[in-house]
Amino acid sequence: MALVVQKYGGTSVGTLARVENVARRALRTQAEGNQVVIIVSAMAGVTDKLLGLAYEVSEKPDTRELDVLASTGEQQSAAIMAMTIHKLGGKAKSLLGHQVKINTDGAFTKARIHTIEGSKVRSTVKDGHIAVVAGFQGLNAEGDITTLGRGGSDTTAVAIAAAIEADVCEIYTDVEGVFTTDPNICASARKIDRISFEEMLELASLGAKVLQIRSVELAMKYGVPLHVRSSFSDGMGTMVVGEEGLEKVVVQGVAYDKKEAKVQLINVPDRPGVVAKIFGELADRNVSVDMIIQSPSREGGTTTDVTFTVPKTDLTQVRDIIEQTARDVGGGAIEYDNDVVKVSIVGLGMRSHAGVAAEMFQLLSSEGVNIQAISTSEIKISCLIASKYTELAVRTLHDGFGLDKGASIVPPAH
Ligand code: ASP
Ligand code: MG
Repeated sequence: MALVVQKYGGTSVGTLARVENVARRALRTQAEGNQVVIIVSAMAGVTDKLLGLAYEVSEKPDTRELDVLASTGEQQSAAIMAMTIHKLGGKAKSLLGHQVKINTDGAFTKARIHTIEGSKVRSTVKDGHIAVVAGFQGLNAEGDITTLGRGGSDTTAVAIAAAIEADVCEIYTDVEGVFTTDPNICASARKIDRISFEEMLELASLGAKVLQIRSVELAMKYGVPLHVRSSFSDGMGTMVVGEEGLEKVVVQGVAYDKKEAKVQLINVPDRPGVVAKIFGELADRNVSVDMIIQSPSREGGTTTDVTFTVPKTDLTQVRDIIEQTARDVGGGAIEYDNDVVKVSIVGLGMRSHAGVAAEMFQLLSSEGVNIQAISTSEIKISCLIASKYTELAVRTLHDGFGLDKGASIVPPAH
């Protein structure tokens, strides 16, 4: 007998008919001899609608009240799911964040889980019930309702799976699993069978939207195996697991991210402390900077050009900060570019294979795509390019590294 956690996203519970599908699947899993916990998201569109209402009332709604409101979506689907299971002859009980004691910090709208008590969920399933837990919600030290950030039900599911030491945490969604790249722009994208937590974390932070990033961090920390799969089919999805025993593929996936803008400071004085000042000012305002390049100025001499990327959503704030900083350090012109995209390749095998970056640059240049900035980590290489080349670059890298034929183990030879 296994202890199974199943998380169902908004589309999987988007209509009453779909709720019934989910209920049948959970009952089937239970009938096979397992104890079953399900975590539900709000029905598709409900969270957006609730937040929309709040922003109709006020441009800056109080975040405590925002969480009281937003968390009701999951409360609805938990109750509806339990009732549906009853209708099908099963036993089920809905549980809200405060009943499961999902204790979080006090950061309304983006709270982090501190602790979870497994006992309530455990006793519920021991009684033969399916425990239906409302995702996304927790409570802070004062007992106020908090929410875990958009997509937070994934994190609820992983945290509960860790707390009750579940055998597997299944994340049901509207796609077959995690893909080698976005199938919407690359027809040869394939479903990945097995991927490591580290790779998944990189892909998730690069904009692959299947899992909330925190849920992957948590799964990695507690070693909770994840199975990302479709609620509309019975096929195997993608297993997200520890890297032991995994084939170390050089390139596991290609991701792209259009959420960053490029900022260039031209002709700033080339002396100690200038770069520290620029990025210090940004850090003080909580702007996270991603790629950074410093290069000798086009004119040469005693000045330097500094190029970096920031979230597009922070650009207005960044303009103010940078214009002031440029005046302070006696710097030159500032240029902004919103039409950029970051394309990245991710794979554990990069650690032990040389030449992967060179291959990536070669593939892009063979299509005439100019690279504006580069950043790397141990298992990732990212290039900033003009956004009009997004599709071309993604397809070229995807097929160039052989992902259309099964993941590449060694970089293709030229
Ligand atoms: N309902 C929340 C959202 O839309 C949480 C979730 O679905 O995971 O972000
Ligand atoms: Mg989701």
